[in-house]
Amino acid sequence: MTWLWDRLPVGGGLRDEDWARRHRLLTVLLAVIMVILTVFGAFRPDTGPTLLVTDGLILTSVLVGTRSWSRRLRSVAVALGYAVACGGFVSLSGGLTESHFSFFVAVAALALYRDWAPFGVFLIATTLHHSVFGVLVSEHTYDHSSAQNHPFTWALLHGAAVLFAAGFQVVQWSLTEAEEERAQENLDESQAQLSVSFDETPVPMVMIAPDGRLLRTNGAYREWLRLPDVLPSGFTVADLPIKAVEDGVQSMYDTIRESEDPLTLTRQYRRDDDGSLIWVQIHSTNLYDRDGELKLTFVHLLDVTSVRNHEAELRHQVRHDSLTGLLSRKAFEHDLSLLLAESAEPVSVIYLDVDRFKSINDATGHTTGDDVLRALALRLTSVVPVGALTARLGGDEFIVAVAGPAGIGLRVGNGILASLAEPLQVPGGEQPIALSVGVTTASGPLPAEEVVLAADTAMYAAKRAGGNRLQVFTDELRVPVQERIAAEARLRTALADDMRESLPLWFQPVVSTVTGEIIGAEALVRMRTPDGRILSPFHFIGAAEETGLIVPLGEHVLREAVAHLLRWSEDLGYVSVNVSPRQLAEPDFVPVVANLLAGIPGFDPSRLVLEITETALLSSTVDVSERLEALKNLGVRIALDDFGTGYSSLTWLKSLPADIVKLDRSFVAGLAEDKRKASIISAVLWLTRSLSMSTIAEGVEEAADWYALQAAGCPAVQGYFFSKPLPAPEFSQMLADGVTVESKGITPFGGVHLNETTGTAVAG
Ligand code: C2E
Ligand code: CA
Ligand code: CA
Repeated sequence: MTWLWDRLPVGGGLRDEDWARRHRLLTVLLAVIMVILTVFGAFRPDTGPTLLVTDGLILTSVLVGTRSWSRRLRSVAVALGYAVACGGFVSLSGGLTESHFSFFVAVAALALYRDWAPFGVFLIATTLHHSVFGVLVSEHTYDHSSAQNHPFTWALLHGAAVLFAAGFQVVQWSLTEAEEERAQENLDESQAQLSVSFDETPVPMVMIAPDGRLLRTNGAYREWLRLPDVLPSGFTVADLPIKAVEDGVQSMYDTIRESEDPLTLTRQYRRDDDGSLIWVQIHSTNLYDRDGELKLTFVHLLDVTSVRNHEAELRHQVRHDSLTGLLSRKAFEHDLSLLLAESAEPVSVIYLDVDRFKSINDATGHTTGDDVLRALALRLTSVVPVGALTARLGGDEFIVAVAGPAGIGLRVGNGILASLAEPLQVPGGEQPIALSVGVTTASGPLPAEEVVLAADTAMYAAKRAGGNRLQVFTDELRVPVQERIAAEARLRTALADDMRESLPLWFQPVVSTVTGEIIGAEALVRMRTPDGRILSPFHFIGAAEETGLIVPLGEHVLREAVAHLLRWSEDLGYVSVNVSPRQLAEPDFVPVVANLLAGIPGFDPSRLVLEITETALLSSTVDVSERLEALKNLGVRIALDDFGTGYSSLTWLKSLPADIVKLDRSFVAGLAEDKRKASIISAVLWLTRSLSMSTIAEGVEEAADWYALQAAGCPAVQGYFFSKPLPAPEFSQMLADGVTVESKGITPFGGVHLNETTGTAVAG
């Protein structure tokens, strides 16, 4: 018995929605049966009262079945309705044996409830019906005499048959229950596994309903967003304590919801709690039901802020020079390529190299060297136009690229040079420096390296010309490395040869604007190659400086220049000789000059002028002012060469022991048209006069410049307008001929007359 009991199904375990569907089916079917019975009864004789009672009872059970009462009550009512329908059918058919089949149909139908109450009620009602009606109206219940005579026996027989049929329903129902239980166990197990992996993983995860509600969150998620363990009901993505920086959390969720495939996105958010910015990688998967309706979105999130920041830092490190924070060489070349490819305007590249940086480093130590580079980077950034690319290429080399109208490179380069009139501010004091600047301008998508090389070449030329100046790139500058090596070899050969032949001096006259006559000459060295070509100093002075061969070369120039001056003593006032920084730094230099002068009895040493550039004076390796004092004590005069290309601060001029200031060509060119230049020159002239210095304007090429300088009161000029540098014999001839400025079509004081008291020319 207990064995059987254990195997009986529990019953009543259907879920509400499954039960409701089955109940609806059975109720509707019952109502339909009622209609069929009514039609059936209408064709049978003497059925009025039976039909009325049957319909009345069925209708009652249908009505109870449709009320929202308990499941049990409603199902029992429907079961009774079926019992009544079967009984009614038997009665209406006059006890026809086949009509009894309806009970078997009904028991199978009611098994759908999988509940003992309606099932049992139906079995009991069936047995009761057969016995009660079998006795009372046996000819309406059975259609054969055996049953009509023994209705109880037949009632039990029919009851047993129905029960037997019901037995199989119960077995089937019990088996289903067992299977469902196993399925549930499996489900529970996999759900438990899922729960563990969802709840316990350190990755923040959330399940979101289609309306944005948070269905389920894991511990990592709640901890990450500092949410309570139990969220308030109706908590949606819009209530989350983070806000997307670009688009709202809501629109972000819309994007996710609309994507049919899994999505991976990275977005920046701001946390409400501490206001910090975070980067979040979002991985989302949408789950759909069988109808293709979105059921939920499964999202897992990774805070990738530190990874992102690290990447950004790495990118910055790769793109920037660690010492100065400027762009790195790689980043510069990359950005320059883009600029060249995309800029509608020409692109100027300005290559900068610190003059004698090595001596700054040697004299002051590497820390100061680094400070200088940092300070220079700052200075550059403050001078170059907004949007320019500024990089440190390594060592003491910097580079700037700027797009703009023609001439912008020259303007920026000159601006940088001018800005260095103020010494750099470094910890522990000030540090004056000078730069060699090379400028080139490119239009169109040239390779970046080519443009950089051109600017570098121009810079190198500026450096060889003594530094502290700007050189614009020209094709002639394109001197290959081989040629540099060849230059050194040539120089060695020339120095070993008869130097008068291989390294002749050419002379360029300096002319007085007052008398129009030649008052002196600058000696400019040339090289005559074995094949008879004449090379300008530009081709070998650099090599000479680099190799130190400038020392014997310089001594040769000095001796030759003085020798020529002595030969032209009748016609020439003085000769000036260029002294390179390297030469001046040589400890032997002053004794060499002293020896030379001592070898010429009766020679007036002031007829020898030594031209020294500002950068030479700034060389920190030797005490230059001491050396200049020593030279001045010998009686020679000092000229400050290329004034206006470097610091050229007017106040600085005061502290120099110079006798002559040579205004650089760049200062003079176009003077006649440029009011600003004219006023600067006036200021310089005023100052040099008050310091008892003389001034020579270099590079005078036009008559207009001559007039302008004369009007401004510049006492002497030098330039192609009067004469290019000439080989000694030709210059000698010029002196012998007594050539004056009149030969150039200018009458001395043309349009100008001399101020008697000051000796300066006045426009009139
Ligand atoms: P610098 O001392 O500035 O010499 C003036 C240069 O300007 C000369 O070039 C001269 O030919 C050029 N020049 C003169 N007037 C004009 C003009 O009206 N227009 C133009 N466009 N240029 C003009 P050069 O002879 O080629 O000498 C170049 C540089 O080489 C010199 O510049 C000087 O720094 C250096 N140098 C020349 N001879 C010697 C030397 O014996 N020793 C040293 N250390 N350097 C020298
Ligand atoms: Ca010179
Ligand atoms: Ca010069």
